[in-house]
Formats: sequence, C-alpha cells, structure tokens
Amino acid sequence: MKKYFLTLVFSMLCLPQFSFAFGPDGHQAIGAVADALLAGTKAGDKVKSLLGGATLEQMSIWADCAKGISPDKDFAYTSAGRFPECAPFETPDGMATMSDFVRRNNSNCNPGPDEENCHKQYHYTDISLQHDHYKTGYAGTNDHDLINAMQAMVQVLEGKPAPQPFQIKDQREALILLTHYVGDAHQPLHVGSIYLDVDGHVINPDEGKFDKLSNTIGGNALMCPCGNLHSMWDDVPQGFKKGRMNQTLIKKARTVATDGSPFEQWPVLWADDSIKAARILYQGTAFSKATMGAKGPSWSIALPLEYEKLMYKMKEDALVNGGAHLAQLLQAIWPD
Ligand SMILES: [Zn+2]
Repeated sequence: MKKYFLTLVFSMLCLPQFSFAFGPDGHQAIGAVADALLAGTKAGDKVKSLLGGATLEQMSIWADCAKGISPDKDFAYTSAGRFPECAPFETPDGMATMSDFVRRNNSNCNPGPDEENCHKQYHYTDISLQHDHYKTGYAGTNDHDLINAMQAMVQVLEGKPAPQPFQIKDQREALILLTHYVGDAHQPLHVGSIYLDVDGHVINPDEGKFDKLSNTIGGNALMCPCGNLHSMWDDVPQGFKKGRMNQTLIKKARTVATDGSPFEQWPVLWADDSIKAARILYQGTAFSKATMGAKGPSWSIALPLEYEKLMYKMKEDALVNGGAHLAQLLQAIWPD
C-alpha cells in the first residue's frame, strides 16, 4: 500500500463545495474559450443571432440547470436559489423554457425503472475502458447517450430533424445543449467507465454475461475521502474558477489543430480521446471489495501519489480542447 496517499495528504484535495456535473466553472470556461475563438467569424454571428445576444459562456450551464425541473411536481422548477449559476434562468419565462424542454425529453427514451430521466442521460455514456473506440451498442452506451446527443444537436444545427428519441424544439435549443454536451464529452469520466466485480477486479462488461451492477457509473460509485471520483474530476481547480485562467486557456486553444475528418465524426473522436484519458486517470489506482448500499454497490478507490498534479494538467487540457473543439465544430457547421 505504500504508493497510495495517506488520508491526511489526500484530504488536501477535498474541496468545500459540491460539484454539479462538469462544474459550472468548467462549462463556463469552455464556453468562454469558444466565444473568444468565434469572435468576428460567421459562426460567431450565427451564435449571437440564435442566442439573442447571450454568450456560449452564459448558456453553457443551462442543460444542468434544467435538471432542477421536477417531472413529479408537474414539471415545476424546484431548485430556485440552490445553484447561484442558474439564477439568470430562474425567471417565469426561463423556468417555462426549461420545463418545456424537460417535458419533451423526460420519458421519450423509455427509461427503465432504475434509469434516470432521458435528458439527464444525454450528459454521459459509460463505455468500458478496454475499448479503443466508441461505438453505440457496447455496454453502457445507448441511442440517447452523450455521443448520440452531440450528433443529434449537430444535425439540428445543419437544418435536419433531430433523430429519435431526441425532441429538440429549434436551433437555439440545439446550440445551447451542444455547448454543454461538448463540455461533458471532455470530462473523461462522462465518457469512460471502469467496470468491477464484487472483489474490486476490473472486468470487461462486453465479454460474457453482462452484470449491470459492475458499472461504477463513471466513477460515481468509487468512493474516496472527498466524496466520489466522478465529482473530484467534475470540479475545476481553484485557479481556473471565475474565469481567472480564461486568457491562458484561449491562447492555448488557438493552437489546437482542426481534425481533417468530416465534422459529423468529431464527437466520436473526442469520445475516443476521453476513453484514453480515463485509462490514464485510473493508472496506479486500486479498488476495495464492493459494499452493497441502497443505491447499489460502491467500492473504495486508492489513488497514487501526485494524483493532484495529474488532475490539474488533465483538467487544463480538457478545458483547452473543449473550447477549441466547440468553436471548430460551429465553424465547420457555419463556415466563413
Ligand atoms: Zn452535464
């Protein structure tokens, strides 16, 4: 066990606030980078006209704020005041818009009794790390996962209808959702998931009989002293918060090369990169035996030394690439 963190050292990583998907700061930073890269382009003008003057940075968190709509309370917004970043959407009009989106995208994917509402499933996929490439059909994927959601939004922005089961009102809604999903796609644990047996051994869910309980749900079922691994990776380092690092991120994002393949394929390529990143972030980790709880099994995870350094670098890369990729995609859809 000598290579693993002592609890004392580890606790330095703990952050005071709860995370909220790829943290609002992460999404906003990616939106802000894309806004800067699109300034003065045709795509930038198109974004402005669709968003009525709002920025990608401002709208980047809307898809998370819409999770505050409660289908069992007649699709009312029940999170008022809970998340400061959602305050701009907590007007009567804003709440009606979120409610309308959730009504259309609540049960359209026929969720199973143990599955989340459809629009919440659009934020992730749980592809196993043994795969080099994302493909719908592998365990943890489905036709309404994060990768299919990005592709659906791209189609709407190209003027085509949204594929089933997505229920997208118009290009404005598609743009707002795409901005958020591109952010999620660059958080490795929104794409790659490690699957474990009850003894904490890594398994391949696409070999043999699939046991749903072996999914660690993007690290949500992996417990560390700060909560769970997923939320640790959702959080953005203090130094990046409130846009403090935006200028540095924008400078780096301008150097990210545009991929030569057709842009419709980019979401899958980003997923492939996130699978690779997820493999790296699990290097040197170890898992306990499973503990059964009300919500299913969980495992404890031990992290290697210097994990904080690795996280910092990988998160910076995610924000740079996320912002660059979003801008490149919108420019590919609406070229100059
Ligand atoms: Zn999300």
